[in-house]
Amino acid sequence: MRVEILRTRAEIRKRVRSLRRVGESIGLVPTMGALHEGHASLVRRSVRDNRHTIVTIFVNPLQFGPSEDLAAYPRQLEADARIVEGAGAGILFAPSPPEVYPEGDATFVTVEGLTRGLCGQCRPSHFRGVTTVVAKLLLLASPDRAYFGQKDAQQARVIRRMVLDLGFDAEIVVLPTVREPDGLALSSRNRYLSPEERTRALALSRALAAARACFASGERRAKALLEQARRSLSETPGVELDYLELVDDETLEPIDTVSSAALLAVAARVGPARLIDNVVLGASRVVAAEE
Ligand code: AMP
Repeated sequence: MRVEILRTRAEIRKRVRSLRRVGESIGLVPTMGALHEGHASLVRRSVRDNRHTIVTIFVNPLQFGPSEDLAAYPRQLEADARIVEGAGAGILFAPSPPEVYPEGDATFVTVEGLTRGLCGQCRPSHFRGVTTVVAKLLLLASPDRAYFGQKDAQQARVIRRMVLDLGFDAEIVVLPTVREPDGLALSSRNRYLSPEERTRALALSRALAAARACFASGERRAKALLEQARRSLSETPGVELDYLELVDDETLEPIDTVSSAALLAVAARVGPARLIDNVVLGASRVVAAEE
């Protein structure tokens, strides 16, 4: 089966209408392309859960800050189409920016509260860009389910909030982070790293693992868990920390003690890449079980 590539709002609307007319279920996997095994895991799950899967590829200008990597972000539609096909999805929606943001557009979606901390602090307009584009994609694809990765934990929680608040009739499914065998979380931005920087980038997952081991041995104080992670991070030079925080897994508010599930999240610059990673301490009510 060859994947069908749609480029315009009119095309996707027509296709979705025809699927809906015969009552077939739709899964949506929004991405920015440069696909890897993390994206493929979302697609495979959607293919399993739904009759049709629409993967979207759109490097969303609205979620990049003025000094960020919008121009450099990798674009490789042909290779991505093969990955989408290999994961079993039939429809790829790859619009151009004016299809998503018509000339003179003035409508945006903002989620408050959850977007204030963590990445919201370093990237002030980022989540407004994410929620605006995801709302548009949910309207165009009207999926039964939409799939997101725990890798972008704050994004997943912000989107769940938006879907609840605006009453979208879609289930938001959040799937575990896919990692390299050595622990590095897969990311399209990993390709910015030189071999030496890639080795340095392992400091993030190693620090999270150190805190998780500390948690497993019974430690529940945020200060001690954070200290463990910070000490581990400081062993690797050239990792410029944006934040390291322990927050409630659902509200994303900082906590003093882990009682229910907590999210330990880190963001750091390694060479040209800004990388993020996280681990949940305790049983998450947000993240679905492994494939
Ligand atoms: P992106 O293309 O980076 O915007 O990501 C598209 C979707 O893939 C988001 O829901 C991400 O959270 C998810 N994703 C990215 N990396 C991973 C990963 N390593 N494991 C699981 N999901 C991921």
